[in-house]
Amino acid sequence: METGIQPEGDQAMDDEGRAQLSGDNTVAFILAGNAIFTLVNSETGNRFTFRVRRPKKDAPHFVSVLTGPDTDNDFQFLGTIFEGKTYVHGRKSGIGKDAQSARVAAWAFPRIFEGTLPESIQVWHEGRCGKCGRRLTVPESIMIGLGPTCASKGL
Ligand SMILES: [Zn+2]
Repeated sequence: METGIQPEGDQAMDDEGRAQLSGDNTVAFILAGNAIFTLVNSETGNRFTFRVRRPKKDAPHFVSVLTGPDTDNDFQFLGTIFEGKTYVHGRKSGIGKDAQSARVAAWAFPRIFEGTLPESIQVWHEGRCGKCGRRLTVPESIMIGLGPTCASKGL
């Protein structure tokens, strides 16, 4: 199936296979089912790492935020994305609605989905496929944050 996902030129990457996402690629990556990414405020240097998972196809997406150094164990539930576009802070989240990570999420997700995120806010994936979590190796995959198999299956 054609996904419409295309690599873009002039894209920032680092040696660890992380890359900056933009436009439609950002939304496709975040909603792929098992996405880890970092929002970086290039003006302040502030950053938060989020994980967005969808346990099964007709479920909503669950958002967690990294609260420690361990990207396997230190994610805490933060909120839910309904119908791939509406972010709601979780009543069962152990993180208060007024915490900075919660405020960043509530501010950023609508803008990401509307395509109105300011350029000063960068979205970086962590070098793993947003759908299956495998480490990305090919440049084309690193650019979009999805491995060849996952990208060709569509979302
Ligand atoms: Zn994959």
